[in-house]
Amino acid sequence: MAAKETGQRLPIGDDDSAGYQPGDIDMTGRPWPDLPDPPSPPRPPQAVIMALCNQKGGVGKTTSAINLGAALVETGRKVLLVDFDPQGSLSIGLGINPHTLARSIYDLLIPRGSLDAKQVIVRTAIKNLDILPANIDLSAAEVQLVGEVAREQMLTRVLAPLSKKYDIILIDCAPSLGLLTINALTAADFVIVPLECEFFALRGVALLTDTIAKVQERLNSDLVMLGVLPTMFDYRTLHSREVLERVVEAFGDTVFHSVIRRTVKFPETTVAGEPITTYASGSSGAESYRSLAREVLARLP
Ligand code: ADP
Ligand code: MG
Repeated sequence: MAAKETGQRLPIGDDDSAGYQPGDIDMTGRPWPDLPDPPSPPRPPQAVIMALCNQKGGVGKTTSAINLGAALVETGRKVLLVDFDPQGSLSIGLGINPHTLARSIYDLLIPRGSLDAKQVIVRTAIKNLDILPANIDLSAAEVQLVGEVAREQMLTRVLAPLSKKYDIILIDCAPSLGLLTINALTAADFVIVPLECEFFALRGVALLTDTIAKVQERLNSDLVMLGVLPTMFDYRTLHSREVLERVVEAFGDTVFHSVIRRTVKFPETTVAGEPITTYASGSSGAESYRSLAREVLARLP
């Protein structure tokens, strides 16, 4: 009912964004854009680096890094996922046991001797989807980096030689605004902010945008906010719809039209250790991340 009142079109059955035609009013209350077919990636590649960032935990950063990455691979891109959270959730979500890793991104950040990123990168079961894994060692880096020269640029240095090998590098940030996240924002060309469609979604966002502004001012003037991604949206609850409305009010066209709905399929994919695009290829969750991939590519210059 309420959706009708606000002019929103309800998703039909289990299908959501996949069903929209250009001009249809979508879940964000705006007309669905006419998204062009993604152009072929340039060869040789020059990686576009994007950080998924929100200091709140449990908002869908890791889930979005994995599934946006997998959806971008389907468009013919070669993608590197960077696990930049000491909890190693991204690594776990792709079937890697962080505890048994011989090497992790920590060893590249705090180098002892010469170590090539190639020796740390792990291939996933999906062709063209690689990962720089992390584990609890990374929490020590946060402290150790403090004493380094150019401590904010350590990740930039690690990623520089990989730029020619990948089309897109996605950094999954830790739930903090500490030095690791500052490193991610300094290395990135773009930042994507996942926001859970829950009551406190906007709390803390001012601090996040403030941090992004400071990084733009002092460390990385090229950093661009690519978009805000509404996650865990439940169209059946008025609450979720109201939060989404507030988010669109606050961020306008920065908000992606592709809204990620709440579904148990996502926790299931973590257990399965694979992206939703292969675990449940035809599901609405998979389609949402495919449509997000198209939107992301369309927003790149
Ligand atoms: P973050 O990286 O921001 O901490 P995660 O991506 O790890 O967040 O998500 C937190 C939890 O919520 C995980 O258990 C994940 O499986 C689950 N989750 C993420 N996205 C969704 C969704 N759209 N619907 C339902 N559960 C989700
Ligand atoms: Mg995470």
